[in-house]
Amino acid sequence: MSDGTADIGVIGMGVMGANLALNMAEKGFKVAVQNRTAEKAFAVRDDNPDLAGNILPAESLEDFVKSLKTPRVAIFMVPAGQPVDDEMKKIAPLLETGDVMVDAGNADFNDTVRRSKAVEGTGLKFVGMGVSGGELGARHGPSMMVGGAKDVYPLLEPVLKKISAKYQDEPCVAWLGPDGAGHFVKTIHNGIEYADMQMIAEIYGIMRDGLRLEPAKMAEVFRDWNTRDLASYLIEITAVNLDEKDPETGKPMVEVIVDEAGQKGTGRWAVIEAEKLGVGATTLEAAVAARGLSSRRSERADAAKLYEGVQTGPAQFFADETGLGELESALVTAKIIAYAQGYAAMAAASDEYGWNLPLGTIAEIWRAGCIIRSHFLDDIAKAYDKGHTVVNILQSPDFVGRVAKGQAALRRVVAKASLGGIPVPALAAALAYFDDYRRERGTANLIQAQRDLFGAHTFRRFDKDGAVHHQWPAV
Ligand code: NAP
Repeated sequence: MSDGTADIGVIGMGVMGANLALNMAEKGFKVAVQNRTAEKAFAVRDDNPDLAGNILPAESLEDFVKSLKTPRVAIFMVPAGQPVDDEMKKIAPLLETGDVMVDAGNADFNDTVRRSKAVEGTGLKFVGMGVSGGELGARHGPSMMVGGAKDVYPLLEPVLKKISAKYQDEPCVAWLGPDGAGHFVKTIHNGIEYADMQMIAEIYGIMRDGLRLEPAKMAEVFRDWNTRDLASYLIEITAVNLDEKDPETGKPMVEVIVDEAGQKGTGRWAVIEAEKLGVGATTLEAAVAARGLSSRRSERADAAKLYEGVQTGPAQFFADETGLGELESALVTAKIIAYAQGYAAMAAASDEYGWNLPLGTIAEIWRAGCIIRSHFLDDIAKAYDKGHTVVNILQSPDFVGRVAKGQAALRRVVAKASLGGIPVPALAAALAYFDDYRRERGTANLIQAQRDLFGAHTFRRFDKDGAVHHQWPAV
């Protein structure tokens, strides 16, 4: 088949695909674009006259393939699941040895592993790439997590580096490991994003129900926090959200938005995969569960009536400098713990699947472009950069002091919120994890004793000198 002129191609001209293609075109690449409803591909070119010279819409998949330079790189930006399998099935017979299919949607990494295996021996290559940053990120610079055969990455790298977000001139894209590595990391990214958003929402709940602050005042506080340790995209947009007014009623926008949050599945996958690996990512779990409960509005309304009279203590929060400082410190500490859990899941996956994930690089490519971007990620990158093994972020010398200092504030905030009946499931999960993680003598000895009575017979025991016997009773 003859060489076309397009450097790269994108299939799926939805929100993400169209913006990614425009980003590529703007950076000087010729991009072939295709969509199952072909008009959409032509509209992307026609609606963007400044970039039209670099956008090559195709009427059919055959024309799309013909328009690509070899080896061809075709990026799928379609909904995860069956649509990706369908597109692969349609395009594979049109491709040649060395051509690359890239799934840039939010795939389940297990599907990416399966697809990688399926192309083995066909001569075609498959890459699973996580893209973060939503519509704006795709258009102006996303963070991208690439997985797949390492020898394919140089084919993609020149384009990806140019279109990616930059943190102090460093491109936020990297090859992270074979087959499902990129999509696994994207899944954990989304799980951390859930936890981060949930913890901010819990602090908002304390400000609203414990401190009775107006949204505009809360916005001021979040703007102030955005100048220090918590500086991040999510804190920045929280302040913007809290300042917004509903044009119809003039009320704060946040007050007219219904309190139910949906989920597209990646947060839930993060929790499931972490559990499968024996790493309880409890803050992520609390965030997923809270979204689930949020969507049961009428059931909550009924329960609110049933328990209307229950006694709760006063929520002793104060809107002075000390009180707000305590909330800030609690949020910083819980955030460190949430990220430690996400990183622990990635470390466990790296061992389990033999990926050798570059954990420091992951923090580096999350510093810009993605939803959880923050300066704090630079601290994590630096912790990994020092060359010593980071068993868990909570054991990193860079974080031990911060957590030891901040835990008191987190403890007070969780205790006061609980007494006052203000739910803080993710903050409480962070505190419980911290206390459990730092406790040398736990309580699983009783669980093992119970299991022994119902027949497990597998516990290990201390001998009289304190040494651990590997199995007792001996079998
Ligand atoms: P979208 O706006 O709904 O667009 C989906 C595109 O896929 C459309 O062009 C649609 O074509 C096409 N499509 C739908 N079903 C298809 C099928 N069965 N076969 C072939 N093509 C099909 O979706 P999106 O937001 O761009 O998301 C695309 C992917 O990126 C998803 O995996 C998503 O999870 C991921 N992602 C999204 C975001 C975000 O913020 N939106 C962020 C990161 C990652 P038609 O025009 O013909 O319907």
